[in-house]
Parts: sequence; C-alpha cells; structure tokens
Amino acid sequence: MNFYDQGLPILGGLVVFSLILIPAHRMPLQPTWIFDFDSTLVRVEALDELADIALAGVPDRQVQLERIRQVTRLGMEGAMSIEQSLQSRLALLSLRPEMIPALIERLVANFTPSFWRLRDRLAMMRDQIWVVSGGCHEWIEPTVSRLGLRTDQVIANRLRRRSDGTLELDPHSPCAVDHGKATAIMARNLAKPRIMVGDGMTDWQVRELNACETFVCFTEVVHRESVATKADAVAASLEEVLAIDIQSTPES
Ligand SMILES: [Mg+2]
Repeated sequence: MNFYDQGLPILGGLVVFSLILIPAHRMPLQPTWIFDFDSTLVRVEALDELADIALAGVPDRQVQLERIRQVTRLGMEGAMSIEQSLQSRLALLSLRPEMIPALIERLVANFTPSFWRLRDRLAMMRDQIWVVSGGCHEWIEPTVSRLGLRTDQVIANRLRRRSDGTLELDPHSPCAVDHGKATAIMARNLAKPRIMVGDGMTDWQVRELNACETFVCFTEVVHRESVATKADAVAASLEEVLAIDIQSTPES
C-alpha cells in the first residue's frame, strides 16, 4: 500500500473523526497565563530589595527602609495610586546602574518555592506565559529567563539614566500609571482565555477592566484579604493555580 495514496487519507479521516467525537466543551483550552512578578513569581518585593541595596551605609537606613515598605504596602492595598507609590519610592533612592546586578542576584535566590519546583513545566509552557509588573525590565528580564521564560513576553516599566548617572523612571513606562497593567495587556491582543495570577490590587484591576477572563489571587507569599475576596479563585501555590478548572471559571 502506498502510504501517501491510501494511508494518509485514512489517517486524516481518523483525526477528523476523533475531533468530532470530542465534545467542544471537553476540548483542552490553551489559556494565556499572565503572572505578576513581586510576591508572586518571586517571594520578595523587588523595590524593597533595591532599597536595601541602595541604602546600605546610609545613617538613617532603617527609618528610610520602613518608609519605603509602608509606601509599597499602601500601593498594594490600593490605598495609594500605583504611580504615586512608585514615584515616592524611587525618589527615596539614589539608584545607580551598578546596583541592578546585586538586585538580580537576590531575586534569582528568591523565586517563590512553587515556581522553582515547577520550573521545567513553566519552561515548556513559555509561549503561553506573560509576566506583567509594576517593576522594571532591567531586573525582571534577567530573572525570568532563569526560569526558562521568554524575555520578550514581559510587560513592565523602564529606567533611564539622568545626567548625573543615577536612574529614574522612564516617563513612558506602561505600568507606572493607574490601570497600566490592564491597558498594556489589552493592547497585546493575547489569546483567550487570559488568566491573571497575582497578589495585589493592580492584578485584580486587570480583571475589573476585562483585560482577562479569570483572576487568581496568589497567596503563597502574602495573603491580602482585600484582594482575595474579589478573586475568581484563590491559590496558595503554582500547583493549585495550574489545577484550577478553567472551564468552570467565569466568562471563559
Ligand atoms: Mg505582586
């Protein structure tokens, strides 16, 4: 039997027949996973770590650090706008380019345990995974690449160099404005269903503005009740996130 004359059409027929037999609602979905970075993919807040590095040797370091942590908390809980929170924290630091490699080293040492456990699976899913953050490309890209994720699927802010050599936020940063994450995701036209996974209020806003179909509140690092109560699902690990039945969650 010539395979190309007889075998191939038969094989093609079998594939089509199998697809007809699988009811549409049982067809496996290929969602787009959108992960937050701070307190989700890593178990720290990058800007807190950066503050710790930047303020090394500063006399009132502890006072400054606590001030920055408080601003981070206010931003995460939605009590302060994301833009205000980010600008306030950066203003408290005299950030220099040589501080960034030290930050990356800390971030890589602090992957959230379940993300590190499932790194092989994440690397296999890399084309379906985006990372969206109010942090900066300068440290997020080198960090996510260590998990096997795509650096061209990161949506974040950027730094630019001032004339005195210190770093400041690039004013065109997409995630440094209120609802920036949602706006940036919508602009990408990502495949549906889109599942946003994060711990903070800015992650919930992605769902609120319909830039994703499902929002999973991620609590492995920190449990924010104000965010968890709004979520479609709550997950305490990446294993729990990936086990969520997408078919039964709303609007997908
Ligand atoms: Mg976060």
